[in-house]
Amino acid sequence: MTRTRDHDACPGALTVHRAADGALARIRLPGGVLTADQLGALARVAAEFGSGTMELTSRANVQIRGIGGDEAASAVADAIAAAGLLPSATHERVRNIVASPLSGRAGGVADIRDWVHRLDAAIQAGPALAQLPGRFWFGIDDGRGDVSGLAADVGVHVLDDDTVALLLAGRDTGVRLQPADVVAAMTSVAARFAAIRGKAWRIAELTDTGPLLTGLARTADAGSTWPPVTHPPVGWIPQADGRVALGAAMPLGLLPARVAEYLAAIEAPMVITPWRSVLVCDLAEGVADAALRVLAPMGLVFDETSPWLGISACTGSPGCEHSMADVRADAARAVTTPAAAHRHFVGCERACGSPRGAQVLIATGDGYRLRTP
Ligand code: SF4
Repeated sequence: MTRTRDHDACPGALTVHRAADGALARIRLPGGVLTADQLGALARVAAEFGSGTMELTSRANVQIRGIGGDEAASAVADAIAAAGLLPSATHERVRNIVASPLSGRAGGVADIRDWVHRLDAAIQAGPALAQLPGRFWFGIDDGRGDVSGLAADVGVHVLDDDTVALLLAGRDTGVRLQPADVVAAMTSVAARFAAIRGKAWRIAELTDTGPLLTGLARTADAGSTWPPVTHPPVGWIPQADGRVALGAAMPLGLLPARVAEYLAAIEAPMVITPWRSVLVCDLAEGVADAALRVLAPMGLVFDETSPWLGISACTGSPGCEHSMADVRADAARAVTTPAAAHRHFVGCERACGSPRGAQVLIATGDGYRLRTP
């Protein structure tokens, strides 16, 4: 499908989106990685200048909405930069990297955390890559199969210690890479896309992806895909080094600033996941146990059978002027209704944030209808 809108309206920290409830700033977090201090800084920004609640996105980013006026938007950008979360003004909206959140700590075939840092640096160093659309994204799957099914524009999937598959729009291209060549291959595909995309925003919208692979040899069968993962890792997750990660989901991906400040107070490395949850990492068992006791009563979800893991929603009314309903309230009411598949409630046909593999319920003004494939 070719979109007709020529202007890239994807928000960033500097180019905010003017929504019905004020300005919205989106802060890119490559690999979902942030420090406790950075989470604390975002919480203070959300409380002082925004709605008091952070939104976690399906690209493992954070949004702050309800920012009132240009002066406040400018103060938000300054605070984000001071927290070290705005390293490039020119490339801030294109640092979209989703990576296996538990990589290097629990499971997976390879530790790809350094790949995320190197890819982020290479993106910022490439002038042509500043021209990528803000919704174009990179996926790095450490071999466990959690990210590849989300169908990034350009992705890699670790097959073994020496072999990495290159994916376009979630599909194996048949190109095989050495780990050392991953970053160069991903940025080269992205630069070619930026050069030839015309009015396409995503690789899946191109009719011919062949030019993107120029100079990359196909040495294996192409076409394989991975099933989409819709649930985050939650609860007590033993790490390979003997420490513990706590996986905490937020109902509808909404993280109140007050709760975020408690998370930050643990003073541990954090990872935001593309399933709108947080991993609090590298905890000693005693610390993890104490954190669990404090955080669970605050509404964070640590139970992998919780129905909140099977439901999500776009912003809806009153924050979005396009919405036909208060979809978050409707999703919250529906959470007790059993469902076979993940349900995503949206306020209009744009179906923002729809997870792959989910049932998408579109508000009609008189209830909801199921989106047809
Ligand atoms: S799906 Fe529609 S109503 Fe929901 S956030 Fe997107 S534009 Fe707004």
